[in-house]
Amino acid sequence: MIETRHIKPPAPPEQFEYKNVKQGEFWRNVPAYKDVDEATFLDHLWQQKNAVKSAGELLATIKEVCSPEFYADAEAGFARAPMAVRVSPYAISLIDWNDPADDPIRRQFVPLASSWLPDHPRLTLDSLHEQDDSPVPGLVHRYVDKALFLPLNTCPVYCRFCTRSYAIGPDTENVDKVGLAKTPKQWEEAFKYISERPELEDIVISGGDTYQLPPKNIELIGNALLDIPHVRRLRFATKGPAVMPMKIITHKEWLDAITSVVDRGRKVGKEVVLHTHFNAPEEVTWITEKAMAMLFERGIFTRNQSVLIRGVNDTRERMQLLVKRLGNMNVHAYYVYMHDMVKGVEELRTTIRTATDIEKFVRGSTAGFNTPTFVCDAPGGGGKRDVHSYEYYDRENGIAVYAAPSVKPGKAFLYFDPIDKLSPNAQARWIVPEMQDQMIAEAVRHAGVGNEELVLA
Ligand SMILES: *Cc1c(COP(=O)(O)O)cnc(C)c1O
Ligand code: SF4
Repeated sequence: MIETRHIKPPAPPEQFEYKNVKQGEFWRNVPAYKDVDEATFLDHLWQQKNAVKSAGELLATIKEVCSPEFYADAEAGFARAPMAVRVSPYAISLIDWNDPADDPIRRQFVPLASSWLPDHPRLTLDSLHEQDDSPVPGLVHRYVDKALFLPLNTCPVYCRFCTRSYAIGPDTENVDKVGLAKTPKQWEEAFKYISERPELEDIVISGGDTYQLPPKNIELIGNALLDIPHVRRLRFATKGPAVMPMKIITHKEWLDAITSVVDRGRKVGKEVVLHTHFNAPEEVTWITEKAMAMLFERGIFTRNQSVLIRGVNDTRERMQLLVKRLGNMNVHAYYVYMHDMVKGVEELRTTIRTATDIEKFVRGSTAGFNTPTFVCDAPGGGGKRDVHSYEYYDRENGIAVYAAPSVKPGKAFLYFDPIDKLSPNAQARWIVPEMQDQMIAEAVRHAGVGNEELVLA
């Protein structure tokens, strides 16, 4: 008889690391929160009120926990940052203050002067050219059947890497922000535009951040959009669950408002879901798991969009851990974005090569529907492209060329790897402007060979 049983060896302990999230009153490790009890820490009003909103406040909060060198480094980092500052106590309490320089949460919110790298020479402030696709203030209509509605410009935290740093948050020393439509009166123009475009079926409500919308405005926006017969799908986008999960637990009116829009959508056969933005596995704690369980119980479907960030989630193991933690909370990992070409955060970007490598590793490690698609939102307005789908990739010089036949046919869109990740020879070539033009022209020409002719967007 032939033995046909093939026993798989038991999974190693690392397989279960995703279950090992922060427990207990972890925030008490931060001196500023050492006397804060659980009821207070979970109070969303307390979190809002105690969010640090300036470099000065943040520095005052961390002064006791970090070294003088780190403090000076952060102070100098803030002086040149293009984004406004806001960090929730929850996020501050997740930072490992014994090693803040390498901490994945610190990297997302607190700039350090010492890690600053010069911007890529081909980088512009609104790298996605969202303003070029904006028919009325606060609406981006780039793809045929879907649009992005930006009803406000504030967030529960401000991320250093924000792709909308051209509009989000208050003006900073380095950037005067573009005005979005921020009041119900101003939103009417966007609703009118959507109602007059029967091809628009899918509306992303982003911002800013849905967390900052008062419950009555969640219902106002949700109902106005559900009332438009051709609108079939809504998504409320928010970073909130990753940086202030307790709001879902303690801001009952907010959760009820979302629930009422979801329920009304379901009754009329329309999908209303939540899109979250978890980046680091450490953002998931017992509080997050409790909050996401409440959403699940109410039938609020949740997807996640991450940004691939150097030092945060740019290894196979860390991305896999994040994806497993999301799946464990019934959150579908939907997208992982290439970090957009944003000013002043070059040290957070990584290469197309890294993204494709991580994608190959993650796919196959869990359920397919919990496996994110890695995308590059092509600078210049090409829209999202599967990272692997480049027409040509010059790995040596870090130039990927994408085409977007259903969005902008015949155009070539370029994504550039951060220069410090390239070979010394390639780095030297990027110093010379004529060489830059030559490398780019060469890559676009290669991309066109055997395909349709492509011209630079
Ligand atoms: C991302 C995005 C959407 C939604 O795209 P999906 O791929 O369906 O998630 C819509 N409009 C704009 C401008 C976007 O950037
Ligand atoms: S929460 Fe989103 S919109 Fe707000 S700063 Fe962060 S990335 Fe930008």
